[in-house]
Amino acid sequence: MEDKNLKISIAHLYPKLLNLYGDIGNIITLKKRCEWRGITVEFEEINMGDTIAAHDLYFIGGGQDKQQEDVAAELYKNKENLLAQRDKGAVFLGICGGYQLFGHYYQPHNKEKLKGISLLDAYTVAGNKRFIGNVTAKTDLVTPETLVGFENHSGLTYIQGDTKPLAVVTTGNGNNGKDKTEGAYFKNVFGTYLHGSFLPKNPHFADFLIELALEKRYGEKIKLSKLNDEIENMTHENLVGKAY
Ligand code: GLN
Repeated sequence: MEDKNLKISIAHLYPKLLNLYGDIGNIITLKKRCEWRGITVEFEEINMGDTIAAHDLYFIGGGQDKQQEDVAAELYKNKENLLAQRDKGAVFLGICGGYQLFGHYYQPHNKEKLKGISLLDAYTVAGNKRFIGNVTAKTDLVTPETLVGFENHSGLTYIQGDTKPLAVVTTGNGNNGKDKTEGAYFKNVFGTYLHGSFLPKNPHFADFLIELALEKRYGEKIKLSKLNDEIENMTHENLVGKAY
């Protein structure tokens, strides 16, 4: 199927509250990598109080504990709806705080536990150390297998059941600084601690998500046409293995 006649719908969840370290760059990357191929993007920004309609791809960024508290309560109201979207094959990408809310809960320090929406079989508890710095991790989902980004979190995420690690950390801390895992995925739901923002520096993963979202919409695998990623790949390679 030609790129030109394709369409994809993308929702950005709560960007006014969860958009740490320019996580909006992930949305810009998804939009641009579609538009450069002539793929029409239907985009919707979801803010507090909005209903969440069916989309091919949902994105949520990261934020400090306070913003997470506000979003968690709102997101929880949409739990059943978003679980149903997951089970219909919708693609989700959550970064850091947003990723944490994809699990069963996030337990901050000395505060009420924040209920998550259980898209992932995972949970997060606040640690005593803040992990800050560059991360390189290796995944078997895309080629090249490296993913790079920047982490800043005190939350320690543990994954279980059928939820799998997105990648194995080779530089940095990842999910909890202990089990060498970074991020998580189940079905087409993906979470990662990598800010930076994530997708501009990992264009291969951006295309992987777009192809999954198109497959969900059209019911068949669609291979995207190649783009000139010379600058993106140079940026990516320059960050592989960089610690601080
Ligand atoms: N508040 C969460 C933590 O510190 C998430 C931070 C973030 O989104 N960067 O773990």
